[in-house]
Amino acid sequence: MHDRPLSKRLSASLLVLVAASCVAGCAHLAVSPVWGEYADLPDRSEVIAGQLVIHADFPLAGQHRLVRDLETLRSDVSQELGLPVSDEPVHLYLFQNPARYDAFAAKHFPNFPVRRAFFVETDTTLSVFAPWQDRIAEDLRHETTHGYVHAVVPTVPLWLDEGIAEYFELPRGDQGAHRDHIAHLSGRLLEGTLRIDMAALESLHSAGELSQDHYAEGWCWVHWLLHTTPARRKLLEEYLADLRRDGQTAPLSVRLTRLEGSNAACAASVRAHIESLAAPRS
Ligand SMILES: [Zn+2]
Repeated sequence: MHDRPLSKRLSASLLVLVAASCVAGCAHLAVSPVWGEYADLPDRSEVIAGQLVIHADFPLAGQHRLVRDLETLRSDVSQELGLPVSDEPVHLYLFQNPARYDAFAAKHFPNFPVRRAFFVETDTTLSVFAPWQDRIAEDLRHETTHGYVHAVVPTVPLWLDEGIAEYFELPRGDQGAHRDHIAHLSGRLLEGTLRIDMAALESLHSAGELSQDHYAEGWCWVHWLLHTTPARRKLLEEYLADLRRDGQTAPLSVRLTRLEGSNAACAASVRAHIESLAAPRS
């Protein structure tokens, strides 16, 4: 069990990080660093599930499949990324319906675009807000992944943060194979507009800059690193471990070029990976 490093907590205190899932993906915004005990937070039932503290404004059974699913996600994220687990609480605030959630978001995050769910990090708390609706399982897996990762690596770059969350938002049996992203990327490949450039992703620092192409590419890099060779998986694990110790560590793109020899060879391998994922299963 590990708490988040103190130095990272202090640096994170400068702003509140908000991540939100929506049709096009997730958004990270800096908002006023004011966080309090809002009177309209869901508080009818509370379920403790490992690191998660789930507050709902409706009766929620501790043995609900969704709760168990999110508990399992904690060990999946830890094992897949070689990260320690933390005992820092991640608070999940679940609203009975979208109307209640929308009213809460409009009142407390008035400048924040309407999203299906969102994640907020402050210097002392990790919180997810979401309404109960058809895609609640996917949304909670996405946002809770942000919580699990930020509990141990608060400085994860925006593109990688989203790539990892997109990877883990899928049901466990899918093993990270995101059909929507595969279709999008293979479409780009066919029309000749696919861009594979990790260094370009690393230059993105605000949600407003992230397009569907960026989310799909971020997911694709994570899938390629985890599912092609042991050396690539190790590279990602070592990068995250180094980031945990030093937020200014050498970028992943620089490390990757060292491993693969050239950016062109690396991009060609990623393109081939997309083609193999998109190929009809025999
Ligand atoms: Zn996200």
